[in-house]
Amino acid sequence: MPETSFFTHLECGWCGRKYDPDKLWNLCPECGKPLLARYDLEKARKAITPEELSNREPTLWRYRELLPVRNEIFKLSLGEGYTPLIRASRLEKEVGHSPLFIKEEGLNPTGSFKARGLSLAVSRAYELGVKALSIPSAGNAACALSAYAALAGLEAHVYMPADVPKPFINECRVLGAQVHLIDGLITDCGKAARADLEKYGRFDVSTLKEPYRIEGKKTMGYELAEQLGCTLPDVIIYPTGGGTGLVGMWKAFDELEKLGWIGSKRPRMVTVQSEGCAPLVRAFREGKEFAESWPNARTIADGLRVPAAIGDFLILRALRESGGTAVAVPDSEILQATYLLGRTTGIWPAPEGGATLAAFIRLKKDGWVKENESVVLFNTGNGAKYSRVWD
Ligand SMILES: *Cc1c(COP(=O)(O)O)cnc(C)c1O
Repeated sequence: MPETSFFTHLECGWCGRKYDPDKLWNLCPECGKPLLARYDLEKARKAITPEELSNREPTLWRYRELLPVRNEIFKLSLGEGYTPLIRASRLEKEVGHSPLFIKEEGLNPTGSFKARGLSLAVSRAYELGVKALSIPSAGNAACALSAYAALAGLEAHVYMPADVPKPFINECRVLGAQVHLIDGLITDCGKAARADLEKYGRFDVSTLKEPYRIEGKKTMGYELAEQLGCTLPDVIIYPTGGGTGLVGMWKAFDELEKLGWIGSKRPRMVTVQSEGCAPLVRAFREGKEFAESWPNARTIADGLRVPAAIGDFLILRALRESGGTAVAVPDSEILQATYLLGRTTGIWPAPEGGATLAAFIRLKKDGWVKENESVVLFNTGNGAKYSRVWD
């Protein structure tokens, strides 16, 4: 099997130190910040064009040259990525703005965009010889890890808050994972998972604590460019927990420009969080480089219940460099917007998806989003498993 990837090395997103791409890494051993994958984009630019991609498989693996997996036999695919970008024309009439698009991530394997990241992280761990994987999760990441570990035949240990809705637990168990339920928040799950890592020799695939989940999620940026004919929207509204998708897309846009597929124009990136857990919104407003941990985090949007994000400085940088902003919305508006999104589009959104619409409505009212600007809302997951929200 010829190697197709142009992956060259890992680089710390904070201190810039470089690391061997074919060893197993978590955070930068020097400064404890996330490592990012780098590619030979000069070579890639000569080797591939967007036209050549058009006939490839409809998954994120169509961008294999810009992904870190070396040998195709380690590629774990359940059909993730290449999700539709839907023009929401009935919603446009309802909110008085066009064009408005929904990136429908609920169609991914296991019902959320976590499949993108875990497809890459598990493929790469598999390629580097890992046997057992561990993750703290609010639900969706646990399901995605369970699925790709099952596909590869690896051991998966998922740590979820004890109050996670039952359908998430059921899915992980059917997919053969060991489920650990922890009294507390995702940060407490992280602590419990860490305590077992060394003891049992498991590899930690917490988001941004290993370098490849972001590579899976960056493909959302590649897809937007491809689906919009090598252009990008004016505004992207993204429900931000750990921020992997937002940072990933921002990285993708730089890669795309170096590949010569797009120009220098960038979308304004918007983070939306719940008023019950808005550490990044607070840090953005206060002009800080890092976000302080949010006490007593509460929201119906489980994926946004992240009191502290290890990639906070990367998220805040992307928001500022793009001329974007950060918005906190109350859960009551999230819920209303979730129903509005559902009844005007036919998509059953996760509340995180509803949050992007709630943020849009505010930004439109404030005049921050101008007439005729193209806006992409990310519905990051399917709503079906959030049983507590609908009961
Ligand atoms: C995890 C998750 C998020 C947050 O994603 P990040 O990229 O970590 O910020 C948003 N929505 C859903 C449905 C999620 O599962």
